[in-house]
This record gives sequence, structure tokens and C-alpha cells, in this order.
Amino acid sequence: MVRMYCRGIHGGRNLCEDCRDLLHYSERKLDGCPFKDSKPTCAKCSVHCYEASMRARMRSVMRYSGPRMFIRHPVLAIAHVSDRRAKSPGKVWGI
Ligand SMILES: [Zn+2]
Repeated sequence: MVRMYCRGIHGGRNLCEDCRDLLHYSERKLDGCPFKDSKPTCAKCSVHCYEASMRARMRSVMRYSGPRMFIRHPVLAIAHVSDRRAKSPGKVWGI
């Protein structure tokens, strides 16, 4: 996700220094996270382990990459298409 963000926003082929820092930071934090693999997403996580500045940066990464991941993910992409065909999003998501 950070990679996607960096390519899109910072334009480089490889991760820039800032984004590399952010990625390493998030990996370190995940290592220390009490929820580990069963962790939902950081937005829902009850332990706010990120420092404020890093959290703000991660939030903009999520905002940028989130919708793009959603579209790129094949299963969700199919749901996305049938969603449009059904003309009623509620039917697809059961809400
Ligand atoms: Zn970057």
C-alpha cells in the first residue's frame, strides 16, 4: 500500500526515503502489536500505537491506496461490476 501510494504521489519507481521510513515504522509497530495477525485494521484497532505524525502519514496512505486496492482486488472487482449491474448496491452487500 505504501508502495502504491509512493508511486502515485511521489512518482518514483522505488520507495522514497520518507515512505521507506513509514513502512519500516509500521512493520516495527506490527511486530509489537498485541493483535498480530488477527488485527483488523489500524483504523479499528483499539490500541493506537502510532505516534501522531506517523498516524497522519499512514492515514493519507490509506486514503490514497484503499480505494485503489479495492478496485484492483479481483474478487472485489467482480463484486464491483455485478454491483453496477444489479443497480442496487444493497442487494450485493446484503444491507
Ligand atoms: Zn514516497
